[in-house]
Amino acid sequence: MRQVLAGHGASRGSALGRARVRLPHALEVAEETIPAERVDAELDRLHEAITTVRAEMHALRQRLHGALAHEVGEFLDLHALLLDDPELLQGLDDLIRKGRYSADYALRLQRDRLAAVFTGIDDPYLRSRLDDVDQVIGRLHAALHRREAELQGIAGDILVTDNVSPAELAQLHAQGVMAVVTAGGSALSHTAILARSLHLPLVVGVAQALQKVNDGDVLAVDGGSGLVVLEPDADDLRAHRERVREIKRERRQLNRLRREPSRTLDGADIKLWANAESREDVAEAHALGAAGVGLYRTEFLFLNRSELPDEETQFRAYRDAVLGMTGRTVTIRTLDLGADKADGTGLALRGEPNPALGLRGVRLSLARAEVFDAQLRAIARASGYGPVRVLVPMVSAREEVLAVRRRLQRIVRRLRGEGHAVAETIPLGAMIEVPAAALALPGFVGVVDFLSIGTNDLIQYLLAADRNNEALGELYTPLHPALLRLLRDVIRIGARRGRPVAVCGEMAGEARYTPLLLALGLTELSLHPATLLEVRRGIRGCDLGALRRDAPALLRARDRAAIERWLERHRPAV
Ligand code: PEP
Ligand code: MG
Repeated sequence: MRQVLAGHGASRGSALGRARVRLPHALEVAEETIPAERVDAELDRLHEAITTVRAEMHALRQRLHGALAHEVGEFLDLHALLLDDPELLQGLDDLIRKGRYSADYALRLQRDRLAAVFTGIDDPYLRSRLDDVDQVIGRLHAALHRREAELQGIAGDILVTDNVSPAELAQLHAQGVMAVVTAGGSALSHTAILARSLHLPLVVGVAQALQKVNDGDVLAVDGGSGLVVLEPDADDLRAHRERVREIKRERRQLNRLRREPSRTLDGADIKLWANAESREDVAEAHALGAAGVGLYRTEFLFLNRSELPDEETQFRAYRDAVLGMTGRTVTIRTLDLGADKADGTGLALRGEPNPALGLRGVRLSLARAEVFDAQLRAIARASGYGPVRVLVPMVSAREEVLAVRRRLQRIVRRLRGEGHAVAETIPLGAMIEVPAAALALPGFVGVVDFLSIGTNDLIQYLLAADRNNEALGELYTPLHPALLRLLRDVIRIGARRGRPVAVCGEMAGEARYTPLLLALGLTELSLHPATLLEVRRGIRGCDLGALRRDAPALLRARDRAAIERWLERHRPAV
């Protein structure tokens, strides 16, 4: 029966397809014992499931190709090893044979036992392997019920689940999933950022998704409005077709702006940089005429791997980004692992009591000197191939910037001594995403070459509102007077001291906020290529003089509603 499930659009695009439901990892299996005469049959059932999963994983490994094959392949190899683990298998057999438990309940018990062991391990890398155990157990459970395991044949389907990590999303995309609907999650999470980068429709916060949707149900997903229609009727199907046509029409229109300048109605040029996570993003940024890459998120190189990428691997990735931009500057952000960006290598700690306030970004880099040095060497070497800037995430104090600058200088000297070509200058910038950095900026603007405001985190830390917690609803918003004032101050300090300032958070990629950012004095934006043309269109419809003249009214706004009214008055003429 038709039902509309409302969530939040996190990555635009429309998809019509069959649902594939993946229940949360924790197995909801009730205790079930079996009579002695069923033990052998139950063991056969389990072993058959194990054989099925082995075959599925082997088949998937064979099918993988393209950019993500390497990373996803490593995942699968690890899972195959787990599946062959004699202790895991013996434990399951014993539970069925001696405990007389059903295969399902044996899986659940074995999972809980392993979880208890893993969570007690000190080593963060080993502790993080529990996720892999969960995935293998989940596949076995699916096979026991003769459902295809989720990794098999999901191409063309819409995944419905509780939540997805960035690493899983990359994997799902490689497998050809059409769209993802999650019961939890947030539009500001790194998973959402990655989904937008991959052009994969994503709707988050559909609270009822797991209760209402069953495997095989047809869904019409609108990643823009956040509406998911279960068993769409004729009107919905027409609306879906119309949306797809509209998206195509809009894309054609926007494509005409590829070679146009990002110039306001009164002739001011705004610098549009691109945010990039991958080679594809760099290619797109180049094709769309981005001024350069304003934020290259290096942590995506570290996800989906069981070992840290070495200097050479990183160097090749950064060099390729630099070459891909053919002489336009590439701003490489040093590693920003931690919080919701946990890697597979165990570098970012898991189980921190307050991960968003923990060892993330530059804090982690400074704590792991050997990892940081390898990255800085790779970046400095890439600078031999074209202009590169280094951007430091999660800066909260002057000392951090100085420590990075010293390290970078030392590394550049050493590389030159080794005979590497390194650019004459590598500008060093700080992300302004911790309120303390914004407030203390007058004290350290002199030691940076440029600034980039990370509004995603700045909003979270300023408003004490978790960017990943959908339950906070509108408490997490860029439309808060405190944020506007802080932005104005940072932009002003940068301008006075001759340090370029950009905004590189998701806010920069939303055309409806463009007038607000321009009014506050911003002349540089860094955003994902997916929305670059839309923002360019917005800029071309803005009168910068008029916006700046009305900035005082914006800064006087006392609440969100007043800011919304200001935005309404200054909608770009498109
Ligand atoms: C930000 O915080 O605004 C930002 C750009 O960094 P990230 O989203 O990667 O944390
Ligand atoms: Mg950030």
